[in-house]
Order: sequence, then structure tokens, then C-alpha cells
Amino acid sequence: MAFESLTDKLQNVFKNLRSKGKLTEEDVKTALKEVKLALLEADVNFKVVKQFIKAVEARAIGSDVMNGLNPGQMVIKIVNEEMITLMGSETTEIKMQPGKSITTIMMCGLQGAGKTTTTAKLAGKLKQRGKKPLLVACDVYRPAAIRQLQVNGEKQQVDVFSMGDNQSPVDIAKAAIEHAKKNSHNVVILDTAGRLHIDEDMMTELQNIKEQVDVHQTLLVVDAMTGQDAVTVAKEFDDKIVIDGVVLSKMDGDTRGGAALSVKAVTGKPILYVGMGEKLSDLEQFYPERMASRILGMGDVLSLIEKAQENISIDEDKEKEMAARLKKGKFDFNDYLESMKQMRNMGGLTSILSMLPGMGKQLGNIESMIDEKQLAKTEAIILSMTPDERKNPKLLNLSRKSRIARGAGVDMAVVNRFVKQFEQSQKMMKQMPGMMGGKRRGGFGG
Ligand code: GDP
Repeated sequence: MAFESLTDKLQNVFKNLRSKGKLTEEDVKTALKEVKLALLEADVNFKVVKQFIKAVEARAIGSDVMNGLNPGQMVIKIVNEEMITLMGSETTEIKMQPGKSITTIMMCGLQGAGKTTTTAKLAGKLKQRGKKPLLVACDVYRPAAIRQLQVNGEKQQVDVFSMGDNQSPVDIAKAAIEHAKKNSHNVVILDTAGRLHIDEDMMTELQNIKEQVDVHQTLLVVDAMTGQDAVTVAKEFDDKIVIDGVVLSKMDGDTRGGAALSVKAVTGKPILYVGMGEKLSDLEQFYPERMASRILGMGDVLSLIEKAQENISIDEDKEKEMAARLKKGKFDFNDYLESMKQMRNMGGLTSILSMLPGMGKQLGNIESMIDEKQLAKTEAIILSMTPDERKNPKLLNLSRKSRIARGAGVDMAVVNRFVKQFEQSQKMMKQMPGMMGGKRRGGFGG
């Protein structure tokens, strides 16, 4: 699972920090040394790590923090905030070209990065937002790529424009835009050819398209699993053809985190989306604050709710209410139960679980076992609570827990563990009010 090792290591550092009442300068320095190592091992760019630690240290060492009421928690808060800054602070949307009837987006990337898949995923997202996209097969070197785009376009019920493999990509793109005008498409997405490695021909071809066709946004798809290589690739593309943003694919895999944390800092260009699986619905908007929250092991409940909303119709009022409670750190067992219910209908169990606070660490075990059993147990525990207990976890004293354990048919220790973990994540959310989805901007522009 993504970031597993990084999250584990950071959580250990934080546990030590929290356990100390007062912090000395030495304590902070030791903790930051460990954070530094964890980031380097996660394949974060060396220079980025250095700057990051410097920024955290400058804010964390000083009488304000160290003599404060809760110094450990303050340091964690600073790490969280600096991590958000590192990834770009604000969520970047695809911009529709103002005053133009058609916005043209050029997708580029190395072969195998996930470009064609992402192109189709993106078309689906745009369609959901009321746009009428046209996909364009500009990869004339691999007939399979044209076919792949056609198949994916069909699945997304989006039109695909192709002229086979005998025309130049520039001519295809020009003809596609004419076609789009005639057929009232308002977004044209060009799927260009990739190569196994950066090469001059590929860059020249992309440059030609940009020069001769009115391209409004250039998006680069990089494979998150390749860590630092992904960042190097992004830098080279940006230097040669200037990109507007990055899509990080394969974030559902065992990526260590280096690419997500370094791309913005190294290239100055934001990550717009992350690919979370092979299915065409597996594309998520990139929210720096939610990603930081995931990396730090605090879960990403807002993305979970959004996923639920996209996949099944959920009561909108209920969802808003839940999001508001989350922001206040008032996540209760009913919310947990509701999330679990939605989850069943959604598939992709582990990706969804990883968004729940406190679940990160357990994913290793969960993946290797049949997790439904585990989930059923958790569900049974919550269902064995009274409505009052579900709303107010503080009521759970020893005798109530023992009753719940009997009701759910599990050991008392299982109930204890679950409740403790739940309280911890609640506490974390409360202590970081700015963390939960502060700067969301809805929908696509245009
Ligand atoms: P292209 O050569 O860059 O166009 O790459 P493709 O779109 O053909 O993707 C290469 C492989 O990566 C395919 O097997 C895709 O299913 C897979 N892939 C693409 N995006 C993702 C993702 O976000 N997660 C996972 N697990 N696989 C992906």
C-alpha cells in the first residue's frame, strides 16, 4: 500500500514526541533527524528534504512552541502544514479556456506511465461535470494505442477521433479540433505518443503540436511507482515543452511517496490528479492537505465521502452534515458505520480503507487476510452499541464495553483496541482543524 513505510515511521516519531510533556531543542532535532531519514527512504528528493526540514525546524525550535501547552502536538502540526505547502497548498483544477468554445488539453508522458488510461479517465471526469469531451488518438506509432483509446472511449461513452497511423499528429490534432467544432464538443483531449525514455523525437513532436495547434493545457502523466525518476521526467518535460501540471498514476501501488512529495517542489508545477487503479473511475482530484493527512496516517475521510458520492447516490444532506462534523472532529460511530456501508458497494476495498483514520497501519494485515471478516467484526461492534453510545464514544466504560464485546461475539480486547484507535483519530482531527478540506474549490472552471 502507498506510503505504508513512511507513514509507519512518521507515526513512531510522533508517538515519541507526544509522550514528552516538554520538549528540548535536542528532542526536536532528534525527531526531525528521524523525519529526514524517513523522507529520504521514501525516495523524496534530497534537496526537497533538506529544505523541508529546515522550514520545520525554523518554526518548531523556539520558545513559542517548546514552552507551549502541547509542544509535541505543535511540532506535528507544523510538519503537517509544511507538508501541505510542499505539495502546493491549493488544489489545482483543469482550467477551461475563458472565451473559447473549445479547450484543448494535450496529454504526454513516457510509454507505460498510464497516459492513455488517464486520458480516458479524465474524459469521464469532465463528462461528469457536464462537458462534452472528444478524445484524439495522436499516437501514430502504436496501432494498439489507437485501439486502446477507442475501447476506453467506448467504455466512458465519449467520442474518439482517429485518422489511423498515416497522418502526422499535428494534422490529426488540427482535424480533430475542426471535428469538435462541428459536433459541439467543448473539450479536446489529445493522447500523444510516448517513448520508453525521454528522447528528442518525442519532444520535438510535442513541441510541434504545441506550436501549430492551440493547446491550452499540457498535462504530463508520470508513474508514481518510479519515485525520483518520475520527478526527473517531469523536470525534463517541463524544461523542454513546458507543462501546466502533472497526473500521478499508480498511486494505488506500493509507492513510497517520493514522487507525490517532490514533484511540485522540483518542477514548480502542481499535481492535478492521482490515478488510484486500473479502472476508468479510479482518478482522484489531488488535494495537498488530504494527501498530507494520508501520509501522516490521519486518514482521508473527505475523499472517502466523495468516492461514495460518485459511485452511489448518497443522501446529500447527510453527507454535508457528516463533512461538517468531520471538520469539527466530531466523527462518531454512526459515521463510521455509514462509511462502511458505502464501502461495500464500492469495491477497491483497500484503497478505501486507507482513507479511514487509523487504518493505515493495519492494511498490511488486512490485505493478506480476507478483510471482510475483520470489517464484519467492526460492524458488529458498532451495531452492538446503543444509539447513545454510537453518538458519544465517551460513554463507553468497562461494563458497556464488556456488553458490546458479548453482543458482537468478540474479545473485550478487540473492542478496546477499536475504541482506542477511534478516539485517537478523533483527537487528531480535533487538534488540527485546518487540516480537513479547508480550501476546496468545487467543479471544473468554464
Ligand atoms: P501509456 O503507455 O502511458 O498510454 O500507458 P497505459 O495507459 O497503456 O497504461 C499502462 C498500464 O498501467 C496499463 O496496464 C494500465 O492499466 C496501468 N495503469 C494506468 N494507470 C494506472 C493506475 O492509476 N493504477 C494502476 N494500478 N494501474 C494503472
